[in-house]
Amino acid sequence: MTGERTVPRITRDLRSLSKRGIEFVVGEVTSIDVASLRIHTANRSLLYDYLVIALGVDYSSEEVPGLNRAWTFYHGDGAEGLRDELAGFPGGQVAIVVPTLPYKCPPSPFEGAFLIDALLRGRGIRDSSRISIYTPEDLPIASAGEEVGAKVLSLLAERDIRFSGGVNLKSVNHETRQINFQDAEPVPFDLLVAAPVHRAPKVLRGSGLLGADGWVAVDPQQLNTVAEDVYAIGDCTSVPMPNGGMLPKAGVFAHGQAEVVARNLTAEIGGHDPIWAFGGQGACFMETGGGKAAYIIGDYYAEPTRVRLLGPSRFRHWTKAGFERVWLWRWF
Ligand SMILES: Cc1cc2nc3c(=O)[nH]c(=O)nc-3n(C[C@H](O)[C@H](O)[C@H](O)COP(=O)(O)OP(=O)(O)OC[C@H]3O[C@@H](n4cnc5c(N)ncnc54)[C@H](O)[C@@H]3O)c2cc1C
Repeated sequence: MTGERTVPRITRDLRSLSKRGIEFVVGEVTSIDVASLRIHTANRSLLYDYLVIALGVDYSSEEVPGLNRAWTFYHGDGAEGLRDELAGFPGGQVAIVVPTLPYKCPPSPFEGAFLIDALLRGRGIRDSSRISIYTPEDLPIASAGEEVGAKVLSLLAERDIRFSGGVNLKSVNHETRQINFQDAEPVPFDLLVAAPVHRAPKVLRGSGLLGADGWVAVDPQQLNTVAEDVYAIGDCTSVPMPNGGMLPKAGVFAHGQAEVVARNLTAEIGGHDPIWAFGGQGACFMETGGGKAAYIIGDYYAEPTRVRLLGPSRFRHWTKAGFERVWLWRWF
């Protein structure tokens, strides 16, 4: 979105995993049949002993009239489109909207706001602009608790970014440039940036694996689903936290869960006890603009949740950039 990275620089062809002895099948999974232990693609049917589902989310926008014309940084094409739009933006009202919960990476709308703030400052048009965030949650990053929420509020206030919590999007009128809420007064916008509506992938809907909340129900520690030898990790899951909430959708959790499932399956196949358990620990960086990032770290399975926000620094920004480099080098 800021142009500091390009999509080719941060994406890799997964087929290169074959050099690690992993057969990578390119194809869309069209159905999952847990009764006959098979998954199907358009031209193949694969029999499994163990299945690990890591299908992420489907994005949509048709639930909210007008949302499909909002700019978004939640996928590569959207980020590139928004980058070009921001480059020509003359200043005005920037609205960043979360239409529904859950969405990927709870800090992402705030991170987006900080980066847009820095970008507009760099272009000398921040004084003629207003940046506002609208979200159904009462506090920023509600899953991380009140202390983190209060710190994010103060970081937003330092940069004159306005926060409106507890509001639910109803529709967007692009002719009058107005955002309508179910429970608040309409607000004007010149540039609308929004998260898409997040849903479990379509292929999972007839699989019998979804819980009442529409996501794959899993055991919080072992990540097994209701079907035997079927596991699910990452964004497609619903992991209950002790405080009654759902574990946030974040890469750090997908990664931690993947390691637990991989180790347990390796143990089981080797005739050992599967002793690994996912503990709900996670950390993520939140870019705050000007080459700095904050760090949010904690234990999401603790009761009450124990999560801290470590303030913005250049060191944290460079740690994040280093993580990206090491990750890509190690796997690809
Ligand atoms: C703007 C933004 C910022 C973020 N920042 C952070 C951060 O700082 N830290 C953090 O931890 N997380 C962050 N995240 C969240 C992180 O990207 C996701 O939580 C993570 O990628 C989830 O991994 P996953 O494997 O569950 O799903 P994905 O990475 O989405 O992978 C799912 C894969 O399944 C494929 N797929 C789906 N359906 C099918 C099908 N039918 N057949 C075949 N393939 C299919 C998809 O194409 C995709 O490749 C951020 C997300 C966004 C959008």
